[in-house]
Amino acid sequence: MAKQLIFISALLITLAIFAYTMRKYFLYFRFTKSLKLDRFSERVYETFNVAIAQTKIFRQPVMGLLHALVFWGFVVILIGSIEMVIDGIFRTERVFGIAGIVYDVVIATGDVFALIIAISILVFLFRRLFMHVKRFYGTEMKPVSKADANMALSFILLLMITLLGMNTFYFLDMHKAGHELVGIYPVSKFLAGFFDQLSQYQVHIFHEINWWGHILLIFAFANVLPYSKHFHVFMSVPNVFVSRIDPLGKIETMESIKKEVTLMLNPSASVSSDNQDEIPKFGVSDANDVSWVNYMNALSCTECGRCTAVCPANITGKLLSPRKIMMDVRARMKEKGPGMIKEGIGFSDEKSLLGNYISEEELWACTMCNACAQECPVNINQPAIILDMRRYLVLEKSSAPAGLNTVFTNIENNGAPWQFSPQDRLNWAEELYVNG
Ligand code: SF4
Ligand code: SF4
Repeated sequence: MAKQLIFISALLITLAIFAYTMRKYFLYFRFTKSLKLDRFSERVYETFNVAIAQTKIFRQPVMGLLHALVFWGFVVILIGSIEMVIDGIFRTERVFGIAGIVYDVVIATGDVFALIIAISILVFLFRRLFMHVKRFYGTEMKPVSKADANMALSFILLLMITLLGMNTFYFLDMHKAGHELVGIYPVSKFLAGFFDQLSQYQVHIFHEINWWGHILLIFAFANVLPYSKHFHVFMSVPNVFVSRIDPLGKIETMESIKKEVTLMLNPSASVSSDNQDEIPKFGVSDANDVSWVNYMNALSCTECGRCTAVCPANITGKLLSPRKIMMDVRARMKEKGPGMIKEGIGFSDEKSLLGNYISEEELWACTMCNACAQECPVNINQPAIILDMRRYLVLEKSSAPAGLNTVFTNIENNGAPWQFSPQDRLNWAEELYVNG
């Protein structure tokens, strides 16, 4: 009974802290711009293809396979974690065992995956700590980012060690007590051979220690994740579902501009608007100007650096790093969000995403090639934010590099980006006798 009470208290504390954190994120989403989702069947396909089958991550075959195994392993092990919560609340023991052979398959798979995940995490840690993998470095990768990644990996390693420990000592406990074993444990049965000399009391105590260690680590991990880059564990699948499914490079029309142009051409035209009196703001200058999908993208960023590694601007020594753009959106919302919760969306701390976090030099370095979006394993659309910040600079601040200003003036005066009059457009063909 005491064990049950302690478990329920720990669970309630975990849920309360988790709900508090999630509420904060939910409120931040309310400060972002709305965006309608459509084409749901295509989104379901994209989610299975990119998030569940992990297809994009296989572009790097070895590390991609390890990442995919970790993801699939987590999905299987999650079933066992849910069982532990039910066991903890109702004082049952391996309650899903009633599923018989299905349970045996799931538990055996989870047992094998625990070992695979532990080995994969050791490989990841080794790469991060001892190998100079270029994409893990960059101006945006502060010591805290690296510590965050290493801490989360260590957490996962401990989770797998306690899971294997729990299974190993459960196997021994049942065996020594002469009770029927529920489930199949291929890896733990092998590990049990190393502890066979322990007494039944000792294996029972070790089982309890690992059971509690594992579940309390899950509870702690669930509350650490939202403050870590590993928040993508929760966010990546829904993020892929809401991600861009249009072809890369397709540029969204600005609705606010479309309305202005429609009214300019036809003042009596009826255009829908949420608030007719509101003066629209063109583009993005701060975190609350981005759409909710852009913000979800930022929360889902794993900081893996695959985008920056393929960015031609970054490779050729420019300031731009698409990973930094996503990290900056997330950091800026974290900074401004609490103020907006207290004082409303009009809150100002005299700072902004554009200027304090992202410079104009970074923005204009982008070639809009979309290589970053192509590479991102969770379908983040980095160029969309860059484009919207440029739109703000041009449309609200009339600030663009000199070369572009010439192009804009030419389009305005000549209807083309070149500095020649439209009447002179066919001069080149005058003496070629091609004008009929
Ligand atoms: S779209 Fe821009 S940020 Fe992305 S890879 Fe190309 S140049 Fe880099
Ligand atoms: S935007 Fe995508 S590719 Fe770039 S660091 Fe984040 S998760 Fe990785």
